[in-house]
Amino acid sequence: MMFYFNSKDAEREAVFREMVESGFPDLTFVTPQDSFAASQVRYIFTWLPMADWSDYPALEVVFSVSAGVDQFTDLPSHVTLIRMQDPGNTQRVVDFVMTGALACLRNLPEHGAAQRQGEWRALPSRLVSDTHVGVLGLGDIGRRAAEALCRVGFAVSGWARSSKSLEGIRCLTGAQGLRQMLGDCDIVVCLLPLTPETERLMDADFFAAMKPGSSLVHAGRGRHCDDAALGAALRSGHLKNAVLDVFDTEPLPPEDPRWHLPRTLITPHVAGHIDPVTAAENVRENLARHRDGQPLRWQVDLTKGY
Ligand code: NDP
Repeated sequence: MMFYFNSKDAEREAVFREMVESGFPDLTFVTPQDSFAASQVRYIFTWLPMADWSDYPALEVVFSVSAGVDQFTDLPSHVTLIRMQDPGNTQRVVDFVMTGALACLRNLPEHGAAQRQGEWRALPSRLVSDTHVGVLGLGDIGRRAAEALCRVGFAVSGWARSSKSLEGIRCLTGAQGLRQMLGDCDIVVCLLPLTPETERLMDADFFAAMKPGSSLVHAGRGRHCDDAALGAALRSGHLKNAVLDVFDTEPLPPEDPRWHLPRTLITPHVAGHIDPVTAAENVRENLARHRDGQPLRWQVDLTKGY
């Protein structure tokens, strides 16, 4: 039986090879560079789906390289999908959200644009303690981001599918909860998974419901956002500014007009980054559980899509 490491990242490969070969000697570790019988593959670690899953009839578990699993739309129903739950990645996204919220608060997109024009332009600023941040998605990452924002003194609301009780955080659900959050918050952060229900959630109605002069930090997935509607909200001045890490086309092509959205800071999908050591530990734990017939952790509910 084989563990197929479907990635060309040499640093990760070394860590995963050591984890598999030392902990599971009956598993053969193979990579895209090896020639091997796909029929023998029991586990795959991959970012992208396989071209044809039927080439892997013995496959039991797919480990996603990423926390988001929206790319796995055609996985056979008998295969278990595990999303990446890597503490190093989670902390990076939390740090990014904190940076993005503070950048919006202190007008860094506007100051960056003024700098490029050689303009010395002071803008009014407000205090963290007078600022309300809304976090869309209160999962492993969103909850930690909301708690971190709370710790530095922001007022924080969070929105999820199911009701929650988190100390110091106003937890909302449903369409009414979303409208309440958008109307109240000065900064909205997107940390949702991409599912049929959340695709293009951020459309013209969504931006119209946001508080005038508010900001967006988007680190979910590009297809959460109708970028034409976002552009209109920024150009009209209804939105103050934005930090965008994700796009429906990545890399964003050089000629793409979104590079020139006003008062917007763009980063190239760098909010998170998988740490090879902690990611390998996630996979090691689940491999051991699977071999022992124990329930797996971080399993995706394919009916919900996350
Ligand atoms: P989780 O699966 O742990 O959490 C998802 C959260 O979203 C849950 O709170 C869930 O609600 C909520 N949710 C899902 N669908 C809906 C809905 N229809 N309405 C309201 N709330 C909903 O995900 P993670 O926290 O691990 O990751 C979140 C996302 O962050 C990833 O899917 C990915 O898109 C993005 N990401 C981006 C990175 C980057 O580099 N830019 C890096 C890592 C992640 P409930 O709790 O009720 O189930």
